[in-house]
Amino acid sequence: MSLVVMKFGGTSVEDPAAINRTAAIVAGRVAMGNLPVVVVSALAKVTDQLLRAASCAAKGDRTGALAISSRLRSRHRDTACALIKNPAESAALVTLIDQKFDSLDEILRGLAAILELTPRISDLVVSYGERISSRIVAATFCERGIAAAHVDARDVIVTDSQFQKAVPQDSIIEKRAAEMLRPLIEHGKVPVMGGFIASNEAGITTTLGRGGSDFTGALVGGALSASAIEIWTDVDGIMTCDPRVCPEALRVKVISFEEAAELAYFGAKVLHPATILPAVKKNIPVLVLNSRNPTNDGTRIISLAPHCKSPFKSIAVKKKLSIIDVVASRMLMTHGYLSEIFAIFDKHQCPVDMVSTSEVSVSLTVDSNDKLPAIAADLSQLADVKYEGKKALVCMVGEDIRGQSGIAAQVFAAIRHINVRMISQGASEINMSFMIEEEDAEEAVRSLHAAFFQNPDPAIFDVEAQKGQLLAPSS
Ligand code: ADP
Ligand code: ASP
Ligand code: MG
Repeated sequence: MSLVVMKFGGTSVEDPAAINRTAAIVAGRVAMGNLPVVVVSALAKVTDQLLRAASCAAKGDRTGALAISSRLRSRHRDTACALIKNPAESAALVTLIDQKFDSLDEILRGLAAILELTPRISDLVVSYGERISSRIVAATFCERGIAAAHVDARDVIVTDSQFQKAVPQDSIIEKRAAEMLRPLIEHGKVPVMGGFIASNEAGITTTLGRGGSDFTGALVGGALSASAIEIWTDVDGIMTCDPRVCPEALRVKVISFEEAAELAYFGAKVLHPATILPAVKKNIPVLVLNSRNPTNDGTRIISLAPHCKSPFKSIAVKKKLSIIDVVASRMLMTHGYLSEIFAIFDKHQCPVDMVSTSEVSVSLTVDSNDKLPAIAADLSQLADVKYEGKKALVCMVGEDIRGQSGIAAQVFAAIRHINVRMISQGASEINMSFMIEEEDAEEAVRSLHAAFFQNPDPAIFDVEAQKGQLLAPSS
C-alpha cells in the first residue's frame, strides 16, 4: 500500500464546498488502498488577513485588528457549522475555534499595547490560520467516514529560529515523523496537519515563509519516504505560464525537478521553491493536481523529464524587484571588488537574483526593497550607487534550451517592443531570464507564449485541452 502525502492549498479549503471536495478526494484515495497523510493550508486569504490584523494592532489600531479577527472568527465558525452536522461534534469544534480566537485576540491586544511586531510574534499570529483550518478539515474527514487524526504540525516540523523563514531540521523531522505519524498510519488513521507552521527546538512557533505549506508537504513526504507528494491547488498543474496572465496557458504533463525548481524560484507561485529539495533527496515524484478537477492528470515532476521538441516548458515572472547599479572605475583590473559588494548583500541577508558586470559597473537585482536604502548606503562607501524599483524578471525554463542555436534571437524578437534592462543565460543552462519594467510583464509573457507555444509537443503539453478550448463556444 502506498503512502502518499496530499497537500491542499488555501483555495482547496476556502469554504465548505471546497473542504467537501477535498474530503471526497481523500476518501477516494483511502478507498483505493492508499495511505494518505494530509497537509492543509489556512483557508484562502486568511494568512494575509492575520498579517494585516497584526500590523494594525502594532500600529495601535486595536479596534481595526480586533474587527479583522472577529470577521475571521465568524468565517471559521460558519464554515465549521456548515460542514459538521453532528450537534455535539459541531459544538465542540465551534468551542475550539472560539478558544483559538480568544487567545489570538489576547495577542492582538498585547500588540496594540506594546506597539511592536517582532518576526516571532508575527509567526505566532499567522499560525492560527493553519492551526484552525487543520482542525476543521480533520473534523470534516471524521464526519465523512475518514479515520482522520489531527496532528499539530509544530510537533513534527522542527526548524531553527529564523522566524518567518525558518530552516527545517531534517533529522529531527524524520525522527518526529517516525514517532508521531508512522504509528497513526499503521493503525489505519489519516494524519491531518497544518502546513507552513513549525516550531524551533524550544517549542516556539515558527513558519517556513509564505506559500510554505507545499514545503511542509514535501518535508513530510521526505521524512516518511512517501511514494508521492501531491500538491493539490486550483489549476490543472504547472502550466506554460500563469493562466491568470494568459488564458491560452497549457498544462505541462511532465517536467524535471530541476526545471520545476527553477520555475518556482523565479516566481511561478504554483509551487514553493523549496518543495523540490526533499523530493529530490529521496527521488520522490511530486504531482501538482487540481482539487476542482480531480480527474485531470496534473503535472508530474520527476528526476529526468523526457525530451521535448520545443525549447521551453514554461515562463515564470517575479515582480516587485529592484535593480541596483554599482558604478566605479576602481573595478578595472582589481580583484576582490566583487566579493566586497557581495559581502554587503550578505551582511544585510539579502539574496541576489541576477548579476551582470561590465568593466566599470555591476548591476544586481534583489527583491527585498525595504533593505535597499541601508544596502545602498553601505555600497556607496565603495562606489556610486543607483537603484530603481518596480522591475520584473521574466524567466523562460526548459532543459532543451541546451544546444539549440538561435533561441535568444527568437526570444528577443518576440519582445522587440519591450525595453529589456538586464539579461542572463547560462547559469543553469536551463533558464533564460531578463529584467523589464513591471508594467510590461504581462505583455511580455503573452508575446513569448504566442511565439513559443504555437506548436506544442503533445508528449509534454496537454494539447487536447487546448483543442477543447478552441472548440468550446465562447461565452
Ligand atoms: P495554493 O493556495 O493552492 O497553494 P497558490 O495560489 O499558491 O495556490 O498557487 C496557485 C496559483 O499559481 C494559480 O492559481 C496560478 O494563478 C499561479 N501560477 C503562477 N504561475 C503558474 C504556472 N506556471 N502554472 C500554474 N499556476 C501558476
Ligand atoms: N497559508 C500560508 C500562506 O498563505 C502558507 C501556504 O498557504 O502555503 O502563505
Ligand atoms: Mg501556494
